[in-house]
Amino acid sequence: MKLDVNMLRYLSKDDFRVLTAVEMGMRNHEIVPCELVDRIASLKHGGTYKVLKNLLRHKLLHHDSSKYDGFRLTYLGYDFLAIKTLVNRGVFVSVGRQIGVGKESDIFEVATEDGTVMAMKLHRLGRVSFRAVKTKRDSLKHRSSYSWLYLSRLATLKEFAFMKALEEHGFPVPSVVDCNRHCVIMSLVQGYPLVQVKQLQNPEVVFETIIGLVVRLAEHGLIHCDFNEFNIMIDDDEKVTMIDFPQMVSVSHHNAQIYHILMKFPCFRYFDRDVECVFKFFRKRFNMNFQECRDDIDRTEVDTDESGRLCFSSIAKDAVFLDKELAASGFTRKDQEEIEKDQTLNLKQEEEGAEDNLRNCEAGPSSKPECEDVSDKEGDNDTENGNDAELVKRLSKQRRRAMT
Ligand code: ADP
Ligand code: MG
Repeated sequence: MKLDVNMLRYLSKDDFRVLTAVEMGMRNHEIVPCELVDRIASLKHGGTYKVLKNLLRHKLLHHDSSKYDGFRLTYLGYDFLAIKTLVNRGVFVSVGRQIGVGKESDIFEVATEDGTVMAMKLHRLGRVSFRAVKTKRDSLKHRSSYSWLYLSRLATLKEFAFMKALEEHGFPVPSVVDCNRHCVIMSLVQGYPLVQVKQLQNPEVVFETIIGLVVRLAEHGLIHCDFNEFNIMIDDDEKVTMIDFPQMVSVSHHNAQIYHILMKFPCFRYFDRDVECVFKFFRKRFNMNFQECRDDIDRTEVDTDESGRLCFSSIAKDAVFLDKELAASGFTRKDQEEIEKDQTLNLKQEEEGAEDNLRNCEAGPSSKPECEDVSDKEGDNDTENGNDAELVKRLSKQRRRAMT
């Protein structure tokens, strides 16, 4: 998604006031009625309507008139609110080039006043790969745009809390600096995702380091759940850094649903899948053969301890849980439960999707596009449908009415 931060310079105090009013209105309305935005922003002389036009033109808002005239934030509008807050806090002063596009995020460089460059990750839940869309489409249909923004905010909070806790426990992760809304600021990793690396001086050492990390995570009661060559960064000295934590599972934070899902898989499938991904990649890319090594790695069995907590019988018996550290970052049990509700759904759908994919693969290759944005269809803005003039007229009328 394009992020033209130059536009930030031209946005006035009133623009941000109205943008914030829409954000506040979205707590109770999926589409915030114009009158409510006007009431919350309380700009003089019907100024809200003029500002709304401007924000709409810059695609910071989406207009909807299906039931009544109203607006909702787009991801771009949400980006600007987060960036503005972080700039006001003095976290950074400028935004640079885009350095990464993840499954559900965009990553940019940002710089502080003294020129230190950091990474800014903007979560974009709802933007999912085509394969996932296929299986998730039904549930996505019922998801409101506010809940996408809300889930992106929770994912950010979770990622921030886990990265901070992992760093405190000596794991090689980026150093987190701050977060706001759906945006997390962290140190810039000087390296490349492993998937881009064609040659290594010491593939065995790198492999052992990486597998050692999955096991150490398990010793902390954690499973990354997306541990693969896209989420492992490696620098010129072959130093490894893990990234991307919103889907991480902490078994100490169990709730009934996650517990149920995990219990369904006797060999703790998600831990195994993380390990399997690493093996598969090194086998294919570096022609390594690990049969003996693979046999050495204990397959973990899910078990419960005396207090009913999940534990991995062979690895995580004495796990050091990170609950205290996570809570210290403001990531509460309730936040975790909210995410787990969604994650549980995702895990279930992933399972079903995997079966679907298998069937599709057997049926032959698909020519469908890889990605589809389901959350933020700015393209279906009325403005772009040729109703621009009509909308402008309506807004002007409302403005005049408010002024009299
Ligand atoms: P997603 O959750 O959407 O997969 P990631 O956190 O994996 O997002 O980031 C996507 C890409 O952005 C990564 O593959 C990497 O290239 C880049 N990236 C992410 N975080 C950093 C960072 N701290 N420093 C440098 N590059 C990063
Ligand atoms: Mg990733």
